[in-house]
Amino acid sequence: MTKKLNKDTIATRTGLETDSQHGAVVPPLYLSSNFAFKQFEKEQKYDYTRCGNPTRDILAETLAELEEGFGGTITSSGLSAINLVANLLGANDHVILPHDCYGGTFRLFSMLHEKKALRAHFVNQNVLSDFEKSIKKIKPKLIWIETPSNPLLQSVDIKAIVKLAKISKALVAADNTFLSPALQNPLALGADIVMHSTTKYINGHSDVVGGAVIVKTRKLHDQIQEWANATGVAGAPFDSYLTLRGLRTLNLRMNTHERNAMGLAEVLSNNKKVGAVYYPGLESHPSHLIAKKQQKGFGGMLSFELKGGLPAVRKFFKNVELFSLAESLGGFESLVCHPYTMTHAPLTAKEKKTAGISEGLIRISAGLEDLDDLIDGLRTGLK
Ligand SMILES: *Cc1c(COP(=O)(O)O)cnc(C)c1O
Repeated sequence: MTKKLNKDTIATRTGLETDSQHGAVVPPLYLSSNFAFKQFEKEQKYDYTRCGNPTRDILAETLAELEEGFGGTITSSGLSAINLVANLLGANDHVILPHDCYGGTFRLFSMLHEKKALRAHFVNQNVLSDFEKSIKKIKPKLIWIETPSNPLLQSVDIKAIVKLAKISKALVAADNTFLSPALQNPLALGADIVMHSTTKYINGHSDVVGGAVIVKTRKLHDQIQEWANATGVAGAPFDSYLTLRGLRTLNLRMNTHERNAMGLAEVLSNNKKVGAVYYPGLESHPSHLIAKKQQKGFGGMLSFELKGGLPAVRKFFKNVELFSLAESLGGFESLVCHPYTMTHAPLTAKEKKTAGISEGLIRISAGLEDLDDLIDGLRTGLK
């Protein structure tokens, strides 16, 4: 076929029927740490699993195609994927990150900054004119973006940031974990690097911790692969197998996650005990238009504020049904969490205030359960 395949087909079929030994339809899982040399002094594709593994490579190839990149590298976690990208920077190189980025990203870059491995700057990227000033002043080599943000789902304009990055010839790296390649493709919008915590939507079954780095050019891919091999952060074959199995149904799952999130957002918007509701699918959300422009969907994450603050939150968690109280996101099961004391606990009270995280804020990861059941479970919590 010469026609470019659609995303559903890529996710479903990449690597099928590649088994030459028995003709297995589903590519087999190669757990072996080493591969025998067929001939002495002759190079071959696989010799040692840290450097390369057939199961992991199919996952990498599928994600690279879905993100429209040159190549992908699969890592042991989302954070090792972020650390892999950080290896592109030296002691005198500056990186700009969002002031409300994922807590683990904040911690990693702060620690690298402390030990003078690189220079990290956390800035508000939402006001583009201020952001432009920061770029002119800092002259970053890397601009890290995370869109939409956690937990208020604010989006930044990827194309506009790519344009601003040209001021200092900075690379643009996007953490695309919240939407997955099914709903947003930063490389197609001009970014150079996409990073994923595959732990979330890509695996989607809450049973693997993993990550991926997908890049636009051969040069970047070679650099990332070299660092991955040197630092030994490659994902395990079994984890890759499970993640690929999850990825097969990504598009299907994302549709249901989104439909359920929209349904829950509407119910919450009409409840008197609820203050603000943050879901980009609602026209009232500040990022509704930009999300509509650069995303293929609004995703499965939302958050809302309970009017009664912490006491109301306690009551809600005690009574809510069908939502597990847990961190993480993007699995088939619906989750609730309290950013103030859970995901964003490391932030000071002042930092939380700046990031818009109040004591009454609750984050939802909408799962794949029946929407009517989820609405009932939520209403029980709000009674
Ligand atoms: C979970 C997450 C990470 C970190 O990934 P791990 O797989 O937990 O290491 C990074 N960014 C975002 C947006 C995440 O949600």
